[in-house]
Amino acid sequence: MKKVFIFLGPPGSGKGTQTSRLADKLSIPHIDTGSLLRKNIQDETTLGKIAKGYIDKGQLVPLEVVSSVIKDRLMKDDCNNGYILDGFPRSIEQAHELEKIMSEIGKFSLKNDALAVYFDIDNEILVQRLINRRSCPKCGTIYNLISNPPKIMDYCDICDSKLQTRKDDNEETARLRFETYEKETAPLYGFFKEIGILKELKADKPISEIWENLKNIIFE
Ligand code: AMP
Repeated sequence: MKKVFIFLGPPGSGKGTQTSRLADKLSIPHIDTGSLLRKNIQDETTLGKIAKGYIDKGQLVPLEVVSSVIKDRLMKDDCNNGYILDGFPRSIEQAHELEKIMSEIGKFSLKNDALAVYFDIDNEILVQRLINRRSCPKCGTIYNLISNPPKIMDYCDICDSKLQTRKDDNEETARLRFETYEKETAPLYGFFKEIGILKELKADKPISEIWENLKNIIFE
């Protein structure tokens, strides 16, 4: 089985939910650059201060910032047996950077050890999904007020914390994030296909059905 999994798809396509499940099942870390950057913003680090302006505008944070955040994370020992990348790489430039980092730190190779899973979904329904998304700041569980609501409105089923709406999950920023996705990230589909590591998953299905299909792809 492959060691590195790259989840590719537009914002709100359900990558985060499925990544968490897969990380639990394989006991490898779920590495999500969006969360790592938000943590830097919360901790008021230098990287966080640079990242904030880009995130608020729905744009990609500069390569040097993301590269530094991801390299530090991949160097940790819990990545020695594999890892799942969610939200990185997000451009062809970042894919080349990932290849470089993997070889520098000696943790796997993109062509031989990685599988990219493309979450195929119609963009039209995604803005609605994003603006109805809520997440738990404590345990990270993701809800959707329409398709996957918490049992008690606004509170996490698992740890009872008050749920939050991400600042960039408003309609205006969500639309800008889609534009950025189309321009910068969508070309990765062709890139991964060309190097023979791409699999596709229909992502407009219930969470449990996507999970079954994902397991078939991963364990086939
Ligand atoms: P996400 O949580 O994946 O939706 O990411 C939220 C925001 O963080 C994005 O809109 C970008 O501004 C920034 N971001 C996350 N991952 C990356 C990345 N790999 N490269 C550049 N910016 C990123």
